[in-house]
Amino acid sequence: MIVVLKRGASEATIQKIARRVEELGLKAHVIVGTERTVIAAVGDKRNGEQEALESCEDVEKVVPILAPYKVASLEAKPEPTIIRVLDFVAGGGNVGIMAGPCSVESEEQILESARRVKAAGATALRGGAFKPRTSPYSFQGMKEEGLKLLAAAREETGLAVVTEVMAPDQVEMVAKYADILQIGARNMQNYNLLQAVGETRKAVLLKRGAAATMEEFLLAAEYILDMGNSQVMLCERGIRTFETHTRFTLPLASVAYLHQKTHLPVIIDPSHGTGYASLVPPMCAAAVAAGADGLIVEVHPDPPNAMSDGAQSLTPEAFAAAMATTRKVAEALGRTLH
Ligand code: PEP
Ligand code: MN
Repeated sequence: MIVVLKRGASEATIQKIARRVEELGLKAHVIVGTERTVIAAVGDKRNGEQEALESCEDVEKVVPILAPYKVASLEAKPEPTIIRVLDFVAGGGNVGIMAGPCSVESEEQILESARRVKAAGATALRGGAFKPRTSPYSFQGMKEEGLKLLAAAREETGLAVVTEVMAPDQVEMVAKYADILQIGARNMQNYNLLQAVGETRKAVLLKRGAAATMEEFLLAAEYILDMGNSQVMLCERGIRTFETHTRFTLPLASVAYLHQKTHLPVIIDPSHGTGYASLVPPMCAAAVAAGADGLIVEVHPDPPNAMSDGAQSLTPEAFAAAMATTRKVAEALGRTLH
């Protein structure tokens, strides 16, 4: 339920009503909006909670949230959530650009990538240190060594660092070095991991599982929000279909659909979404035209020799050209690349 407070409710009033929500056995999520404050009261409802809250002084009305995801829903928060990390901004007309190699491979490779993607306009550096590979014999990532190199790249360039965390017991270590925690597609329904990143106050990039429905995707985000972490971005990275001439099928309609259902920013990953570098630049522009709040793009200084995902990685030159076109699309639509 959404408990809508009267206009100008004081902090003490907000806290009093939040306590009342908790006394009724529900969890209270205070959502401060530009117009007024609401409290999302979520949990297993029995009887009479709505009437009990309606009768509180300073409550204007109580409305049920119909969507199965509660805190993520537009019903709970009509204004877009804006994620700001260093110079990276996504949401509310800001298109945040994350770019970098699939995997961190060496100091030289990550620093070169960082300098080049920054020069092309990116504000966040991607790079996997823990890699979820389909085969156990493939390169598994540089682990903590890779995290240290990412932090050194941030030190030099000022780029925010986005990197994947694969297990709950890695969250503390990854959060020590990263600015944005990435939950990979294979882990979208690892509920213990979602709760562990939900306990941090780091921004989270949640990737859609390759076989997950939109409802499952939003409920996965809800796990993170329910732990009190409001800094969640949803990332469409393509789904598995019968089609084989692209690695995955990238549904850009997800952007428009998610904007009708949630206030969370929607990021597009055209690299995993297509699997081929030549398809990435047009999908960057199309994603922004569809309303995406950000992009995460694989860029490598030497794609043919990349240790993972070389075929879908752009050269720094191709990335700069893609961003120049994408920026024009954003500007035509009154939005800004960051
Ligand atoms: C990645 O970002 O390199 C990655 C493994 O992505 P996904 O989880 O979407 O497959
Ligand atoms: Mn990759």
